[in-house]
Amino acid sequence: MITCKSKKIASSVADLVFPPVCPLCGNVYHNESSLFCSDCMAHFSFISSPFCHICGRPFMSTEGTSHICSSCILSPPPYSHARALGHYDGALLDAIHFFKYRGDMRTGEKLGAYIAAWAYDTQDYTGYDYVIPVPLHRKRLRERGFNQSVILAKQVAKKLSLQLDIGTLVKKIDSRPQVGLGRKHRKRNIKGVFAVVSDKKIDGKRLLLVDDVFTTGSTVGECSRLLIRHGAEEVAVLTLART
Ligand SMILES: [Zn+2]
Ligand SMILES: [Zn+2]
Repeated sequence: MITCKSKKIASSVADLVFPPVCPLCGNVYHNESSLFCSDCMAHFSFISSPFCHICGRPFMSTEGTSHICSSCILSPPPYSHARALGHYDGALLDAIHFFKYRGDMRTGEKLGAYIAAWAYDTQDYTGYDYVIPVPLHRKRLRERGFNQSVILAKQVAKKLSLQLDIGTLVKKIDSRPQVGLGRKHRKRNIKGVFAVVSDKKIDGKRLLLVDDVFTTGSTVGECSRLLIRHGAEEVAVLTLART
């Protein structure tokens, strides 16, 4: 039986022979808990307060405290709150592109472990039932070979000791990519493309929806609305980055 201690020793020996290499720049680095090497981490911008309590949008001014933004007051989103690890630029943007478009699974796994640890340390998801990744249409899944949100959601579920559900929410229509579309068109493009396979599983449940990037919130908004319409008590959103 491999114990936790012997696993640790084995991984430190492996680190000596094959030291961890930063997935972004190729530099060798020794802080395994860090996402990238210190040079790359210098180009990483975390989202910090003040931000909107609901949609998580950071405010322009770094002064003051977090509160609810005017757009969430005027038109409250269907999710209870959305949180993102960092801004979609610099090292995080590079890492997401490596993972999503070049299929670099090592970076994907690292991002997953990192967001899971961050969610565990900074948010309270006590009482939530399932972690649900934003699904891909089966045609896209065949082309890409993986769903980036599933890779992230798996690690989030494990770290938060919640169940992972990848079958209840599906994408039934292969909509055109949201990239390059404005807010209004994004909303229209994503409307009605998802479906809930079984209401029974999510009835009265609190769900954590996981996606890679929060742009205008149209995708997570559409998924949340649908999950709530099918009986979910609450949907919270967690993403790696936001624009
Ligand atoms: Zn680096
Ligand atoms: Zn807001």
